[in-house]
Amino acid sequence: MIDFRALAQKYDTPLYIYDFNHISGQYEKLKKAFSGRKSMISYAVKANSNLSVISHLAKLGAGADCVSIGEVKRALSAGVPKYKIIFSGVGKRDDEIEEALREDILLLNLESEAEMERVECIAEKMGVKARISVRVNPNIDPKTHPYISTGLHENKFGVDIETAKRIYIHANNSDHLDPVGIHFHIGSQLTKLEPIKEASAIVADLVRSLLAIKIELKFFDVGGGLGIVYDDETTIEPYDYAQAILGTLHGLDITVVCEPGRFIVGNAGFFLTRVLYEKMNDGKRFIIVDGAMNDLLRPSLYNAYHRVEVVGKEGNETEADVVGPVCESGDFFAKNRPLPPTDHDDLIVVHSAGAYGFVMASNYNTRPRPAEVAIVDGKARCIRQRETFEDLVRLETMCL
Ligand SMILES: *Cc1c(COP(=O)(O)O)cnc(C)c1O
Repeated sequence: MIDFRALAQKYDTPLYIYDFNHISGQYEKLKKAFSGRKSMISYAVKANSNLSVISHLAKLGAGADCVSIGEVKRALSAGVPKYKIIFSGVGKRDDEIEEALREDILLLNLESEAEMERVECIAEKMGVKARISVRVNPNIDPKTHPYISTGLHENKFGVDIETAKRIYIHANNSDHLDPVGIHFHIGSQLTKLEPIKEASAIVADLVRSLLAIKIELKFFDVGGGLGIVYDDETTIEPYDYAQAILGTLHGLDITVVCEPGRFIVGNAGFFLTRVLYEKMNDGKRFIIVDGAMNDLLRPSLYNAYHRVEVVGKEGNETEADVVGPVCESGDFFAKNRPLPPTDHDDLIVVHSAGAYGFVMASNYNTRPRPAEVAIVDGKARCIRQRETFEDLVRLETMCL
């Protein structure tokens, strides 16, 4: 049990808290599901990129899936070996490509022919051979929220099968490209196995047809996307997930890479906030807290559900909205939830806040971003200090 009162007293609110033992458990579950096959769990750094989180996972053997050179640098700083780092993303700048090649990471994931040309040109200038994989868009509907659905041709991600083939053939004949992998990622918060299985089958067929023309890939990257329980979802068991994927790989000797973000850190995280006031507007009850949409954006951005709990209180529940102080009607954490009466300084825990929480925080309303605390074997450690006003204005200058 996490002592939220003690943490609020020591570190103040709003506060992010991550249970590192839960993170280890999730990593091990997935690793075990793929055992019996060459595999790499490449943590999607964007879900929670605190250096301590990455370093904790690196120690367990995880690689890193990065979507900017900044994330690549985080992974390297946190101790992820360069040969376990993947650089993905639809739009990489020339300087990002150059730096990734200089760092000699495992591979760059290409998402267009135009990107292939840039990478080839930069690799040629540097006199190196760039290891690449291609993100294939299998045109599968993952049946998740449209903002986090990425595997349909109407989405901006990846290339279609025919384009992918052309890229592989070109790369295979190039002195400066080395095609080593293939990749797909159809969406996030996936709770249905069938779309993953279908996508995997389509991409595995492509790998076999490449093999037939002597292009032999080493990495079969199935992306991330494994869903977690926020409310009452039925989620995919890691074992079933692995079996579904491995079942499509007959005849292939290939390392399976998967890139979970949310699955690893989502339910390890809690967002702790303090009640400021309650009020009634024309019969509607509001609980106003000191956290806001700038700290945890998911409810506002995706209308996401997070379980909320008033620490140490139960009973006499009536429906309330839990809202922050920001001047936007989208500034809420929960709507129409049965909650007990609260008093000034009561604590509210927002559950499942470990993924896409702090990383999406901003300084909107000149609000310092929260501190982050890790719980390791029952002990709390601050892994990022709360920002100060000085931090917020440090890069600004007053002209004249
Ligand atoms: C976002 C992303 C992931 C991680 O997604 P989760 O849903 O957090 O598992 C993995 N791979 C790529 C390419 C991504 O863009």
